[in-house]
Amino acid sequence: MWNLGSINIDNFYEVPHLPIAGETLAAQSYGFGLGGKGANMSVAAARGAARVSHIGAIGPDAGWTVERLLEYGVDTPHIAQIETPTGHANIVVDGSGENSIVLFQGANVQLTEAIIGSALSEASTGDFLLMQNETNGQEYAATTAQSLGLKVAYAAAPFEAEAIARILDRIDLLVLNEVEAEQLVEALGKPVEALGISDVVVTLGAKGCKWVSNTGEKVFDAYPADAVDTTGAGDTFTGYLVAALDRGMDMHAAIDLALKAGSLMVTRRGTADVIPDLKEIQDHFGI
Ligand code: ATP
Repeated sequence: MWNLGSINIDNFYEVPHLPIAGETLAAQSYGFGLGGKGANMSVAAARGAARVSHIGAIGPDAGWTVERLLEYGVDTPHIAQIETPTGHANIVVDGSGENSIVLFQGANVQLTEAIIGSALSEASTGDFLLMQNETNGQEYAATTAQSLGLKVAYAAAPFEAEAIARILDRIDLLVLNEVEAEQLVEALGKPVEALGISDVVVTLGAKGCKWVSNTGEKVFDAYPADAVDTTGAGDTFTGYLVAALDRGMDMHAAIDLALKAGSLMVTRRGTADVIPDLKEIQDHFGI
């Protein structure tokens, strides 16, 4: 499978309170890590035992992000190194857990058709192309993928109705959370089952998910979990779902695995580094 997605450096600063206008504030601690929905989903897909090739871009000084993805089992030849700085998120968190984030999209929105086209020229009919809304080039990628006989999966986050509308007729699988689904229905003025997309999966947090297809609507319960941190649950779910489909599982089995991955993920603090692998899921659920 192919994943056109963002690669961010997440910078974390622990602060006594969120800064106010004009204030200079000393952070109590600093840490950084690999972030971005794209990178998270590639890691989840690789941990879900798919062969996943990431399509993306970083700036001059972030070679370590590519190495990190490689360590996690992601194929990286189609991550371009360009002049624009790597996308990054500067996240300040106060003692109560409240945060504020400055996001710089950087290299994630400077992808060229040459970068995307050369990657997809290596794809095979029936492969999945996964995308989120954190890079440019989505329309070109969806059109190219469709013309090559790939299946297009789209995770509608961060939500932007226009971004979905632009490629709606090329999406085979749409994954979105409950709030995003409501926003989409409102923006397009029709229910998800009338969008003309073969498969729509709406994640419902602790309630599981809903699969809408031409065979009707089916709700799947979540696997109960003692949730401590839901960050990255959606990315883990989607990465696992598309990985499972790419590996030839049917939708029921793929959703079941994605629910298991999501449920285990919420018991862990962190994002890419703690996404469970298939073995951990099998051990945890005794399968
Ligand atoms: P986020 O933006 O926090 O990553 P999201 O809003 O995109 O998440 P959710 O619907 O919150 O996505 O969660 C995705 C999946 O993770 C759910 O469908 C479910 O399988 C699993 N999940 C989330 N929260 C819980 C929970 N409290 N208990 C069990 N499973 C959960």
